Amino acid sequence: MGDFDVDLFVIGAGSGGVRAARIVAGHGAKVLVAEEFRVGGTCVIRGCVPKKLMVYASRFHDDFADAAGFGWSLAAPSFDWRKLVAAKEEEISRLSAIYRANLAKADAPILDCRAEVEDAHTVRVADGRRISARTILVATGGAPVLEPDVPGREHAITSNEIFDLPELPERMLIVGGGYIAVEFASIFVRLGTRVTLVMRGENVLRGFDEEMRIGVRDALIDAGVEIEFGILPTRIDKRANGFSVTLTKGERIDVDQVMIATGRRPNTFGLGLEKAGVELDRLGAVKVDAFSKTNIDSIYAVGDVTNRVALTPVAIREGHAFADTVFGGKPTKVDHANIPTAVFTTPELGTVGLTETEARAAYECVDIYCASFRPLKATLSGRKEKTLMKIVVDGVSDRVLGVHILGHDAGELAQTLGIAVRLGAKKADFDETMAVHPTSAEELVTMRTRTARYFRESIGEEGPGAAIMDA
Ligand code: FAD
Ligand code: NDP
Repeated sequence: MGDFDVDLFVIGAGSGGVRAARIVAGHGAKVLVAEEFRVGGTCVIRGCVPKKLMVYASRFHDDFADAAGFGWSLAAPSFDWRKLVAAKEEEISRLSAIYRANLAKADAPILDCRAEVEDAHTVRVADGRRISARTILVATGGAPVLEPDVPGREHAITSNEIFDLPELPERMLIVGGGYIAVEFASIFVRLGTRVTLVMRGENVLRGFDEEMRIGVRDALIDAGVEIEFGILPTRIDKRANGFSVTLTKGERIDVDQVMIATGRRPNTFGLGLEKAGVELDRLGAVKVDAFSKTNIDSIYAVGDVTNRVALTPVAIREGHAFADTVFGGKPTKVDHANIPTAVFTTPELGTVGLTETEARAAYECVDIYCASFRPLKATLSGRKEKTLMKIVVDGVSDRVLGVHILGHDAGELAQTLGIAVRLGAKKADFDETMAVHPTSAEELVTMRTRTARYFRESIGEEGPGAAIMDA
């Protein structure tokens, strides 16, 4: 270890930091971790895990209603928000304790305090101690932004607070149209809250496939979410009971809670990185190379703080790759292409690879296969619901470039489809794969009729456009 107190100091015990610390300690190095909030980070404490638990809670709303079509009759169900919050808290505390125990088992002790970088090899912890480290890993994640900057925005909550509200809001305004806004609109409307969703754009989920965006929008509206596009709050006033929000066109709505979900920023504020000479981008993200190294040789960064792809599995993979590269003698880059992802609305959106728009911009010839159908369960439940599937194919090589699904368990499907897309599967491979019947997923291997073929604009366009044909 030479002249340093530790080989590695990790700032932040979230997805990326914990994985890196455990693997590095496993390589025999002396590791110290600092965490200023709760071990487990955003994903475990106030992100993916409690969110998914609330998604499950919300889906019982539909299940109870659907059961009638299958012969069940139930007493009118009731929902207790406080019970859900307590059960959620118990589970995330259990997980946090497991993370803590795993670090202890790996011999990577935790300091339960804030840490800041002082120079290339020194970290200052909250009690004033200075700890020298051969390598510093910044894994401090991100935090919600409170945009737009309107009077009264300090009254709004973010995803940090939503999980522990003392009461279920009767009426809530959600601002934003990204992952968090649509997921929580879908959750709360099913738990019984009257939800209004406002966003600056013309549709939800910018960057996702256009048909899927429309499908998510329609599913939210069908579930009862009131959506306004091109509308934002201009001021938020506190009232005796809740808040009065003035919107762009001057109309006002009274709500119990305003949730702002307009993105997250990297957690670098006050971290001492600039003083240590570490380069940040204009959003405050730590700039790193393919091995997660900053411009300072002894300082690395992984996860949301680098603003590459803000997803848990990516942070974990980057943390692991860092550990293998710097302490395991095995230089490892993370491949950020074709990352499967899911938006956990109901139904959910699962996706991997290129959208139709991206493919048409990058490839000479693109074939589109689409299906839109009523899932079998909906026939008896009577639910007005469609499953959408789209396969985007390189018309020259027949390689599948992207798959997009809006339907039940689409996140689960995206995981396995991610393997096929990564392996370079061709549409013919999908076609030759035997179906599993009766499933919705069998549609992926039975879609034979091309919906449209597009050539790059210079060559012209053929086909009926991207209209989705009912199967
Ligand atoms: P984090 O997990 O945020 O960990 C950073 C840690 O550093 C935190 O614990 C923080 O307290 C600590 N820290 C910060 N500064 C300091 C300091 N100076 N000193 C000491 N400690 C410090 N991703 C998915 O893949 N699937 C999902 O379903 C999903 N759902 C999400 C839902 C919500 C509501 C949110 C907000 C995010 C969600 N994400 C999801 C994203 C996912 O949570 C993040 O990508 C992931 O947690 C990033 O891991 P990380 O290690 O980079 O940072
Ligand atoms: P997103 O980037 O997904 O969405 C941000 C939304 O806020 C967009 O609708 C954007 O509009 C809007 N917006 C941005 N800036 C402003 C502004 N100044 N004024 C008004 N509107 C604005 O961020 P989220 O906060 O929803 O989520 C953060 C990240 O966390 C996600 O990108 C994802 O990586 C991760 N996450 C993953 C989940 C999952 O895997 N299921 C779930 C939750 C989060 P516009 O479209 O016009 O740009």
